[in-house]
Amino acid sequence: MRFIPRSPEEGINVSKEHPLVEAGTLIVGIGLIFAVIAVTLIFLVEIAIYFIPAEKEVALFEDWMPTDIVVVAEGDERSQAVDAILKRLSRHYPDSPYTFRIAIDDSEFMNAMALPGGLIVLTAGLLDAVKTENELAFIIGHELGHFKNRDHMRALGRGVVLGILFVAISGSGAGSNYGASIADLALRGFSRSQEASADEFGLGIVHKEFNHVAASWRFFERIDEYDGDFLKLMSYLSTHPSPDNRVDALIMLAGKNGWSITGELTPVGW
Ligand SMILES: [Zn+2]
Repeated sequence: MRFIPRSPEEGINVSKEHPLVEAGTLIVGIGLIFAVIAVTLIFLVEIAIYFIPAEKEVALFEDWMPTDIVVVAEGDERSQAVDAILKRLSRHYPDSPYTFRIAIDDSEFMNAMALPGGLIVLTAGLLDAVKTENELAFIIGHELGHFKNRDHMRALGRGVVLGILFVAISGSGAGSNYGASIADLALRGFSRSQEASADEFGLGIVHKEFNHVAASWRFFERIDEYDGDFLKLMSYLSTHPSPDNRVDALIMLAGKNGWSITGELTPVGW
C-alpha cells in the first residue's frame, strides 16, 4: 500500500474560538488562579494566628508605632484623660494578654484603630467630636473587642497577603506602592461580623463601667447628622459600620442583654 501525502486542511493552526473569547478565558483563568492563591494564603494566615500567641505578638510589637502616625505632644491633656479611661475600662477585661496603650494621632480626620501589640490609635479629629466619657468608653471598648477576637492580626495577615499578590501581579516599582496602600486598607477595615462582635464586647465593657449604656452611641448619631467637612469623616466611615444601622443594632443589643439605656453622663474634660 502506498502512502499518498495530502496537504493539510486550511486553518488548522487557527483556533475555532474567537481570539477575544480566548483572551477572556486566559484572563479569567489567571484571575481565578490568583483568587485561589489569595484564599489559600488567607486561610494559612488564620491557622498561623493560632500559632502566634498574643504574648508573642505583644513582644514583637511592644514599642511599635506606624510611621504615618503623628503622636500629639507628651503631656497633652487629652492623652492623660484617654489613658485614665483606658485604665478603667481594661479592668473589665482582666484576662487580656495585652497591656493596652493609646496614641493620639494629630490628624483632623476622625478615626479609631486597633493595631498589633495592644496599640489603640484615636485621632484628634475624633476626640474633637466626642462629648462624653460614655461615648469615648464605647469607642475604646469596641477596639478592645477587636483585640479580644484578634481581628487586627487577621487583618494584618490579610493585608500582607494582598500586598504580596498585588506586587506579584503588577511587578515591582509602582505596583509595590499600590500593594502597600491595599495592605493598609485591608489592615484597617474589618468585616461586618467582626464589627458587630466588637460592638457587643464594647457595649458590655461600657455597661460594666457605668452600670448603664446610656448615650454611648450618641457619637454615631452626631456624625450621622454631621454637616461639616465630609473628608474629615471619610476615614471613619470607610473603616466602620454606617452610623444609623449601628445605633439601631446597639439599642437592640442593650435590650437583649438587659442593659439600662438611661443613666448619668460624664462630659469629657477637654
Ligand atoms: Zn471596628
